[in-house]
Amino acid sequence: MAKNRIQFQKGLSLATFLKHFGSEGECAEALARWRWPGGFVCPACGARQGYVRLRTRKLLQCKHCRHQTSLTAGTLFAHSKLALTTWFLALYLLTQQKNGISALELKRHLGVSYPTAWSIKHKLLQAMLERDAGRKLRGVIQLDDVYWGGERHGQKPGRGSPNKVPFVAAVATNQEGHPIALRMSRLSGFRKAELKAWAEKFLDPDAMVLTDGLACFRGIAAAGLEHQPLATGGGPASVELPEMTWVNTIIGNVKGAMRGSYHNASGQHLPRYLAEFCYRFNRRFNLAAMLPRLAWAALRTPPMPYRLLKLAEVHW
Ligand SMILES: [Zn+2]
Repeated sequence: MAKNRIQFQKGLSLATFLKHFGSEGECAEALARWRWPGGFVCPACGARQGYVRLRTRKLLQCKHCRHQTSLTAGTLFAHSKLALTTWFLALYLLTQQKNGISALELKRHLGVSYPTAWSIKHKLLQAMLERDAGRKLRGVIQLDDVYWGGERHGQKPGRGSPNKVPFVAAVATNQEGHPIALRMSRLSGFRKAELKAWAEKFLDPDAMVLTDGLACFRGIAAAGLEHQPLATGGGPASVELPEMTWVNTIIGNVKGAMRGSYHNASGQHLPRYLAEFCYRFNRRFNLAAMLPRLAWAALRTPPMPYRLLKLAEVHW
């Protein structure tokens, strides 16, 4: 199933992937190139005099100060006993499949244990989350409130229902009304102060924001942005608003994909799943480049031990 999907999808073909990243040496060379595009920089002394590769261990020794480091030290790939080819195959599967890949599927494809597959996936999702954290949406933004979990088929769940995780979805559109960028963020609740803080962090001050009439969206104007509440009391009626077509379509797609792959995704890890959709959406026009771009981001994301990955309450 997965193989056919890969073969017929526009993007990086499996054959091309294997040709470039099929061996440990090729993967190591690629990582070195992406980590140090201008040549090796010693993390201890900053010298650019190159390194000596120590044969006995996978260590690089700075030619200037003899500091020993590794290709992956200080990055998301640090402290991993996995072969680089395993990491690269994970990068491939995660970036080239239309809706990503669940930890369970990843486990089967990589031939690793479930906790290992889960850890690989969530580390890479963390890189996606951190990579997009600093980007602000601009232009005309369709913003809506969403709950994850427990809604009845085809209906928007009642606001404030218990056991549901609240999040917002925001789609920036261009002058032609085409969707350009997506951000989804978990919130602790739909409160004005929280929306204000969120807007200040993630929306351009010149953006124009369309929402339904839910009271918390007054936080948008409180953040100093132009806010246009549309005439509706919220609830199922807001789904029909033509001004909100893109955000509603995307929310539908996200929920559909989440039900397929992550039906038991916990609220705790929801921000990473949401970040995955956004990362993919924001780069959907260049699928093939997504693999090196994600590897590049992972090389600039600090190490994230399994314990932290599992326990940390991810916010926004
Ligand atoms: Zn050095």
